[in-house]
Amino acid sequence: MTEKYDLHSHSNISDGVLSPTDLVRRAHEHGVTSLALTDHDTTAGLAEAKAASEATGIRLISGIELSASWQNKTLHIIGLGIDPQYPPLLNAIRDLQVIRFERAEKIAAKLEKKRIPGALAAVMTSAGNSMITRTHFADFLVSQFHVSNQQEAFDRYLAKGKPAYVATVWADMALAVDWITQSGGVAVLAHPLRYKLTPNVMKRLLPAFKDAGGQGIEVITGRCNADEIKLAAYYANIYDLAGSVGSDFHSPVNPWVELGRLQPLPEHIKPVWELFG
Ligand code: AMP
Ligand code: MN
Ligand code: MN
Ligand code: MN
Repeated sequence: MTEKYDLHSHSNISDGVLSPTDLVRRAHEHGVTSLALTDHDTTAGLAEAKAASEATGIRLISGIELSASWQNKTLHIIGLGIDPQYPPLLNAIRDLQVIRFERAEKIAAKLEKKRIPGALAAVMTSAGNSMITRTHFADFLVSQFHVSNQQEAFDRYLAKGKPAYVATVWADMALAVDWITQSGGVAVLAHPLRYKLTPNVMKRLLPAFKDAGGQGIEVITGRCNADEIKLAAYYANIYDLAGSVGSDFHSPVNPWVELGRLQPLPEHIKPVWELFG
């Protein structure tokens, strides 16, 4: 059987739409043989996903997407093959949950100033016990007819530089990488081109990421063109990082991204799955 990896996906335990069980089933239906569930700053969906993967016969890789800060920039670090019970990682997740809640209070206050009340209560309800993300705020703004879709919510309110944006200090990048590697996982820099860093900044970031113990970089994402693959592969080569492939699937409603619908990793790139066996 040909292997199909998808090493970046979200369930409704963070800002995805499907339950961990439905996510695993959908991945299986789309021919994925190894799926990593990588919810934002939480591992709370992994037990359910694991049970579903055993029932379906697909391999579940325990993952997380940690929000990290490096030189005042927010980065996302994927952990693959982590031990969700590793105590420092559990502590970090608790801290990140507090950071996210406090940020949510500030975002809601900013929306209130724009005469949009009720956001905090709404996102607390929609997130339930899950992580509150900006996606929850985007859905709230859509539901109240302030915008017509999620993207417009980011573009008008939630993205950097917009009225409800709150600058946040996340986990230090080196610490985030350390929690992942010390728990037995492989740390991968997620969607490296989405941060819009200049080549000079990338030249500083990637060695710092490697020094911290980072081993991989996403070369293939759910939406990337040939030039983007070339550039990410170039960074993988120059800095001797393994290449990862992940759709960053959030929702079946988004027609652009599907589980397992990924371009092949360029042949000269070392696949990240060789690192976790
Ligand atoms: P956050 O709560 O800040 O971690 O953001 C949660 C999610 O919002 C991200 O993982 C993306 O799925 C989505 N997101 C962030 N920025 C944007 C943007 N500018 N446009 C659309 N979606 C975004
Ligand atoms: Mn997300
Ligand atoms: Mn991300
Ligand atoms: Mn993601």
